[in-house]
Amino acid sequence: MLIVPEREIADLLTRDASFDAVEKVFAAMAAGDAYNFPVIREAIGHEDALYGFKGGFDGKGLTLGLKAGGYWPNNLEKRQLINHQSTVFLFDPDTGKVAAMVGGNYLTALRTAAASSVSIKHLARKDAKVMGMIGAGHQATFQLRAALEQRAFEKVIGWNYHPEMLPNIEKIANEAGVPFESVPLEGMVEADVVISITSTFAPTVMSDHISAGTHIACMGTDTKGKQEVETALLARATVFTDEVAQSVSIGEAQHAIAEGLIDVSNVHQLGAVINGTHAGRTSDDEITMFDGTGVGLQDLAVAAAVVDLAVAKGIAIEVDF
Ligand code: NAD
Repeated sequence: MLIVPEREIADLLTRDASFDAVEKVFAAMAAGDAYNFPVIREAIGHEDALYGFKGGFDGKGLTLGLKAGGYWPNNLEKRQLINHQSTVFLFDPDTGKVAAMVGGNYLTALRTAAASSVSIKHLARKDAKVMGMIGAGHQATFQLRAALEQRAFEKVIGWNYHPEMLPNIEKIANEAGVPFESVPLEGMVEADVVISITSTFAPTVMSDHISAGTHIACMGTDTKGKQEVETALLARATVFTDEVAQSVSIGEAQHAIAEGLIDVSNVHQLGAVINGTHAGRTSDDEITMFDGTGVGLQDLAVAAAVVDLAVAKGIAIEVDF
């Protein structure tokens, strides 16, 4: 078995490599070559932790495995550890033997940013100029850095529930040489592309905040009950997702479906656009939405890429197991 420790991941996996891995696996899912297993997520009644598994099998890329982990809200204060903790396990699909154990924390941020980036590549208008960010936490920085590579953005506008966190994303815009402006939520109407990545359970982005022609990637809602955007926006938009089953149960679409505003048949796989079996955006004034719920196959795809890179660089730790 090979081990790739968390500390090695940042130097191994580039944004380009994670983008390619995620784009390929979304395509494989839509083609029916890869599928995700039902998600397990449990409040374990200890340390207020949420723990679970996301797994799947990609019969084309031949990756089988799971990501185990979750959220320990007391880690930072009590133990100076980050609150999100996860590990990816890969198995040999021919034998069932465990093949690799890979640190999953940095990978999660890279694969989540890659997902919204893939959606921007395939769904945003080619002439998009203004990038809007809603959220300024840990994931938001990765999201913005990756998104800015997808179009020739001339400005970043940002809003966050905790305004004191906005410098986190301003710094990323500055590093990319793009001016940053903090705006009220109503100011998001100026954006051509919006990413929302917050942990809210009550919608902050209203339909009126989003203009015709915008692409919005909703990345924060990955659990039953969470909600970032008003359901009326889903009724106005063409809705795409990584995985329909997750979108309608733990993603942003769960609420619009419950209210009867949209139907499961209104939620489309982004992979179908990548494969050319769905037209994607069909006009400049269409609102496209990506409901990015985060699937196990994304984790497996980037973990498999990391293992290959670690082996090539001679830094994978081999243990007899
Ligand atoms: P974080 O704690 O670093 O940041 C949280 C963000 O949410 C901050 O911008 C904060 O200001 C904002 N926020 C908190 N309470 C709010 C409220 N009531 N209203 C509006 N905004 C509020 O968290 P993070 O690691 O950046 O994760 C953000 C979200 O993304 C979480 O919900 C996490 O579960 C989710 N996530 C999704 C995926 C995926 O694949 N879709 C992957 C990783 C994380």
